[in-house]
Amino acid sequence: MYVPLLNFLLFSVILRLGATNFLKSARERHQNQVASTEDFRYLAASSDPNYINKVLDNILVPRVVGTPNHEKVFKYIKKELRLLNWHVDVDEFMDKVPIFGNLKFKNIVATHNPQAERYLVLACHYDSKYFKDIEFVGAIDSAVPCAMMLEIAKTLSQDLQKSKNKNVALKLVFFDGEEAFENWGPHDSIYGAKHLARTLHSNRSLINGENVSELDKIDMLALLDLIGFRNPQFLNFFENTKRWFLRLIEIENTLHEMNLLKNHYSNYFLARSSYGRIEDDHLPFLKRNVPILHVISTPFPPEWHTAKDNRDIVDMDTVVNINLILKGFISEYLHLSLHPPDASNENPIPIIIVFLCALTFFIYKNFVK
Ligand SMILES: [Zn+2]
Repeated sequence: MYVPLLNFLLFSVILRLGATNFLKSARERHQNQVASTEDFRYLAASSDPNYINKVLDNILVPRVVGTPNHEKVFKYIKKELRLLNWHVDVDEFMDKVPIFGNLKFKNIVATHNPQAERYLVLACHYDSKYFKDIEFVGAIDSAVPCAMMLEIAKTLSQDLQKSKNKNVALKLVFFDGEEAFENWGPHDSIYGAKHLARTLHSNRSLINGENVSELDKIDMLALLDLIGFRNPQFLNFFENTKRWFLRLIEIENTLHEMNLLKNHYSNYFLARSSYGRIEDDHLPFLKRNVPILHVISTPFPPEWHTAKDNRDIVDMDTVVNINLILKGFISEYLHLSLHPPDASNENPIPIIIVFLCALTFFIYKNFVK
């Protein structure tokens, strides 16, 4: 009597756990909506390198957690997102770190549509690494990725607003405390990512009668890191997101053929897989089965974690090119209907037809008896 009941209960629990998976199956069935050449041209025309430079003017400073600069950069990113009408949440917590003791960390999480059922997440970290004896500003690590994400938010803002009723929305995560304070290891690194993954995992709600966590709502987490120098190379790291990585390659090829990429002589996204492990902010999400797209330069450039990772190595053409590829990808993933061209650029044929009709009417009325 008890055993069948126990079996029934166990079976129900298993069914329930597996069932969170109406979101998982929606994610697996999800297809991109291939962008048109007009879409790519529109995206290319809206690139805003001046804004990327303006963001870098504000955030490209040493910004170690707990310092006044860190607070300034945190406030700046939050302010920019709010000015663009994004919904901004701050995931704030205390943690104990080597050298400095207890510190307050703050992840910034922004979305243009908090009501969406699922999310494509774009992420980077905004803290910079502490060095005792050098001034380290971390341009590629990761001020430039932060500036790229803000430029995406700015230039796609209108198109994202229009698609608010869609099932999948864009979320931007600016992780805090990625860097180790002393020696990289499981207890001294990715402080913010560990906390946010834990928080989202335990934040549960009932949707369609199923108990789902905020993590279940993430279709894919695309993590940007070590981006900003000329001609980086990105490899595919995960089998379950390979089809999306391949789409990035195709978009890069299309944009190249359309001459929309500046000073682009070799591909950034390579059709090569590396299943080696790079430790980064994605790990706590990967551990909880969130699909990951890791856009990180491989191999790491020689400037990595040196004073030379500053504005001098930033190549704006490369940055704009990569952001254009990402915007093409995001537009396709979210099925955005991109801004229509100006009325002034529209086909003049309808105006000619109206003119001819009026002329015919005039002739008929005055000359045909
Ligand atoms: Zn770093």
